[in-house]
Amino acid sequence: MTTKAPIADPVDIGKAASAAFLRLPDITTLFRRRAARFAALAGGHPMEDFLRFMSRLAEAQAESLRALKPGGLPDVEEIEAAKRDAMPPFAGDGLLDGTHWRDVLQAILKSVAAGEIPEQTRQVIADLGAEPAAVLDGRARAVLSDDVPETSRGAAVFIAAALQVRWAAAASMLTADGFQAFDEGKRCPVCAQAPLVSMMGPASEGQSTRYLHCRLCASSWNYVRIKCAACGSTEGIAYHGIEDTQQPVRGETCDTCHGYVKILSTEKELGLDPMADDIATTGLDLMLAEGGWERASANPFLLAT
Ligand SMILES: [Zn+2]
Ligand SMILES: [Zn+2]
Repeated sequence: MTTKAPIADPVDIGKAASAAFLRLPDITTLFRRRAARFAALAGGHPMEDFLRFMSRLAEAQAESLRALKPGGLPDVEEIEAAKRDAMPPFAGDGLLDGTHWRDVLQAILKSVAAGEIPEQTRQVIADLGAEPAAVLDGRARAVLSDDVPETSRGAAVFIAAALQVRWAAAASMLTADGFQAFDEGKRCPVCAQAPLVSMMGPASEGQSTRYLHCRLCASSWNYVRIKCAACGSTEGIAYHGIEDTQQPVRGETCDTCHGYVKILSTEKELGLDPMADDIATTGLDLMLAEGGWERASANPFLLAT
């Protein structure tokens, strides 16, 4: 007797064809790719020095993964319970516990200090390296809650870099199944932070897929097209590019809240990186600000500029 196994379950085919709700970061490639993208964008760019510095910083983030000891995650049952309740498991400052994020920070500082950097940056690194744990944790909380005092914005770049490594490394250890939209999809289902930018494509079932990209843990979640990522409105949405709306990076503006989120089209240009391409297109932010539009969420690396 032979039993015929079905070639493929029709339900699975349906699942495979529709876009996954959540894409978790691949920590083994995330920061190295970012470093390469920053370097590729730097040549001849008006912000060349800064983009080259950001490339170095992303390299330092990649290297700092070696300083990250295993463990330090909430237990699996806690994570599963959070998913069931549609609560982001890494919201708040829970991942600051232990020494993990500070180990990463020290590794990043050491790595950046080993290269050629302006004297002012060297001083910021020396000061941060000598600060007690409680002060550093306070700086981290300020970055997480978007409440960085103007005088500590130079230091906040390194703090944000370390937090991104800690959160992205933790997110990369999750399984994407079972996550639900948080705050109607306007904030990250993994860590509750606001999206940095949104990314379009590649197409699935003839439809362009659109994802919002988390500025902290580097997860991406599916979000309806032509809908404001700041307030959720579907009316009065428009697209603005520097020269025309065919550019790979445009601003999606909303007449309801007067906010905007950038939209990066990976169909138009391959190799786009949410962080690097956001920073390399600050000209678009200036243009939108002149038009009266307000950026929906800050890029932590641009606070000091
Ligand atoms: Zn996140
Ligand atoms: Zn809006």
